[in-house]
Amino acid sequence: MKLSRLCIVLCVLGLLLCSSFSLAAAEGKRALVGGTLIDGLGSNPIKNSVILVDGDKIERVGTVDTLAVPAGYEVISTEGMSVLPGLWDMHVHLDINGHANYSHWHPTYKDRMVDEIMPASALQLLLAGVTSARDLGAPLEDAIIVRDRVNSGELPGPRLFVSGPFLQKKPYPGTEDYRWGIDGPADARKKVNIIADAGVDVVKLIDQDQMTLEESQALVDQAHKRGLKVVAHSHTAAEIRRGLEIDVDNFEHTGLATAPEYPADVILALQERAGSAVVRGSPLYWTPTVEGLWNFVDLRDNPESLDNNCWQRGLKPDTIADIKASIAHPDQLLYFQLTPKRKPTLKRKFQQLREAGVVMMVGTDSGIPLKFHCQSTWHELDVWVNVMGVPAMETIQAATYWPSKFMGVEEQWGTVVAGRYADIIAVKGDVLKYINLLQDVDMVMKGGTVYKQDGRVIESALQ
Ligand SMILES: [Zn+2]
Repeated sequence: MKLSRLCIVLCVLGLLLCSSFSLAAAEGKRALVGGTLIDGLGSNPIKNSVILVDGDKIERVGTVDTLAVPAGYEVISTEGMSVLPGLWDMHVHLDINGHANYSHWHPTYKDRMVDEIMPASALQLLLAGVTSARDLGAPLEDAIIVRDRVNSGELPGPRLFVSGPFLQKKPYPGTEDYRWGIDGPADARKKVNIIADAGVDVVKLIDQDQMTLEESQALVDQAHKRGLKVVAHSHTAAEIRRGLEIDVDNFEHTGLATAPEYPADVILALQERAGSAVVRGSPLYWTPTVEGLWNFVDLRDNPESLDNNCWQRGLKPDTIADIKASIAHPDQLLYFQLTPKRKPTLKRKFQQLREAGVVMMVGTDSGIPLKFHCQSTWHELDVWVNVMGVPAMETIQAATYWPSKFMGVEEQWGTVVAGRYADIIAVKGDVLKYINLLQDVDMVMKGGTVYKQDGRVIESALQ
């Protein structure tokens, strides 16, 4: 404020400061000034924070008392706001966009994935404050093309990590583009090599209990040999037991359908694995993706938010019409009929996992029926805090620091620290008290580029 007022005065006097000011701003020197910074490292928030951004990196972090904004920085006021690292969503599906019928969706939009569907999903996530995301299960080539276009800056979206296809015993009929079957240990190694050679960031394994031990072990060993971590489903106790046996790095979902809790032997095994984290140099990670089970019941009973057109951004009119028609009657979606019976069991299972010592990360299955990319991630944080009783600070770390640690980029981004990439969001109010303020972030910056400010999308940044 002061700087711009001074600038106006000097301009009126005919001095040159304004032109040097706008030049410097064009070079990407910005100062985020005044807000309460939650840096992602879990410590006390920094009040009256100042973050200097130079180009795509965070230059310095301080407070209004300790860090004066140097001349030539564009000041963005964060007064009255919570400022935090850009969120991560560790389980998204860019190739789906809330449509209720997979067997219609995939063949119909197969040829529109790269140019329409996946870029639209990425854009919607970014504008929701998600500046990094892990895509778990898509056709190999599509996933790599879209990731590379986004990561090179050609398309707006979160920094992407992709798995390419699901690896499983047998693809379900009609899903062969994005689900690859494994037939024997040699085939497991071969398939891992194909996706590793194509450049995936992580391996997605499902139904590992249906493979032979040798197949699933060969798959994990080969992935590790190629420097790739393995992310595995955990829908049944047998899947978890096998996953632990073959040493996967990260389990997904809070499964076991309607069973009230995880069996004692599974919890004991998880505790043992968690107990070796320091010696192994890595914790066991778990992405519980619980909110989808609230989402269905909430929308079935109150579908109003389906009319929020944020999910339409980037999609063509016929795609929008198709999605709309498919979700016109949420109560009739057979996909979710078991959900209301699963929901009451989740709190107990979530607590068991937490108490067993796994490191939980925020992921949402964003893109599944009724679950739109523009609304998905904050929903998960909201359920963690307001239903599961996880402290807001811990929840935020599960959506910032821990995902960056899992992906091995914690020295580069995921926290607001000098020297890291400037992936920063800000929202009016106190998110530690009201986590669901994150449903409407006021500012989104990724790599120093501002995509949203004062609650408005900066359309020129999307070109
Ligand atoms: Zn998923």
